[in-house]
Amino acid sequence: MADSNFVDYVKIYCRSGKGGRGSMHLRHVKYNPNGGPDGGDGGKGGSVFLRGNHNYWTLLHLKFQRHVYAEHGGNGGRDKCHGTDGKDVYIDVPCGTVVYDAETGKFVCDVMHDGQVVPLLKGGRGGLGNFQFRTSTNQAPRYAQPGEPMQEMTVIMELKLLADVGLVGFPNAGKSTLLSALSSAKPKIANYPFTTMEPSLGIVSYRDNQSFVMADIPGIIEGASEGRGLGLRFLRHIERNSLLLFMVPGDTDDIKKEYEILLNELKQFNPEMIDKHRVLAITKCDLLDEELIEMLKETLPDDLPVVFISSVTGFGIDDLKDVLWRELNSESNKLREITSEDTLVHRDKDMSRFVQELRAEGADFEEIEEVGDDELDEVDDLEDYEYTDE
Ligand code: GDP
Ligand code: MG
Repeated sequence: MADSNFVDYVKIYCRSGKGGRGSMHLRHVKYNPNGGPDGGDGGKGGSVFLRGNHNYWTLLHLKFQRHVYAEHGGNGGRDKCHGTDGKDVYIDVPCGTVVYDAETGKFVCDVMHDGQVVPLLKGGRGGLGNFQFRTSTNQAPRYAQPGEPMQEMTVIMELKLLADVGLVGFPNAGKSTLLSALSSAKPKIANYPFTTMEPSLGIVSYRDNQSFVMADIPGIIEGASEGRGLGLRFLRHIERNSLLLFMVPGDTDDIKKEYEILLNELKQFNPEMIDKHRVLAITKCDLLDEELIEMLKETLPDDLPVVFISSVTGFGIDDLKDVLWRELNSESNKLREITSEDTLVHRDKDMSRFVQELRAEGADFEEIEEVGDDELDEVDDLEDYEYTDE
């Protein structure tokens, strides 16, 4: 993953701005020595927001951004001068980004839609200046409020791909080849397992300028859901695909059995995956003759649509697109899409395991230094605050 352009997790230290201090100031001017309090309020600290942006497909643009700081609010000044508000920071992320607290692994928030803005850390409110505290009995208050402190958190952002169709198959089933036949994506293709080390996305155009997104996900191997093998970390990418296309080569001895093994792998990983719409493609049909195809038809699973295809000759590809489109747009699938969004539960992360997984892949997962802030007011209580005359 280290040199790859497909970045599906990043770790970033984020900090909002603290609120500016309210000013304690008494007005002294010529001819009006007791001009009264005129200390202005502090400005508010900037907040950190996440913003969904559909122009991003990965978290690559954040890979080298270790720290995000929002601006502090400016302090209030004499003459009721209000401190400047700190600028907010917006972190643009691809739709489908899930955020966890890096220390505890707790789920924080997710960003699903283009333009969606999710607050991450709130900036501190500015403190009130002494002008605000004047009363009939205390006409020259010698105190002002400190600003609210900033908030900080180191977060892990993780991308779950939002493809419409996820390809599910053992290595060598022909997933990458299909994706490159259907779209302009250029996945690596080779006749040995695990050529696909990273998921790739392709946009498949369908009739009349319509299109859907298809994701090729690294091959599942048996036992992946128990933590063996490569597939596991990537399996989560298909959690959100709204339709699964199972792929089994036509020259497999027992197609039905292989399909069932795949299905079982998914079930182990997340039982809800079984509720997704499924289509089965029998691939590499150029290797079969018509007679054999007819014979095979008798033995296939009957609980889902089955299409015979060859990505090499183009046989059955239009059929496949029709079936995928029909299933994607079927009423029951749409309903599920809406409800799954409401009920989607993010499991908290087991951080030690997550780090182990990444290390096993050779990814670097360095600790991020949390940069201290000298100016930080250590005060959070009005009573304890020492006021200085300006
Ligand atoms: P993946 O591991 O599922 O992504 O499989 P690949 O797409 O990398 O394909 C594995 C091998 O099967 C490659 O050698 C492909 O050339 C071959 N292959 C893929 N699709 C077809 C097909 O439709 N017909 C034939 N004859 N070979 C295919
Ligand atoms: Mg592949």
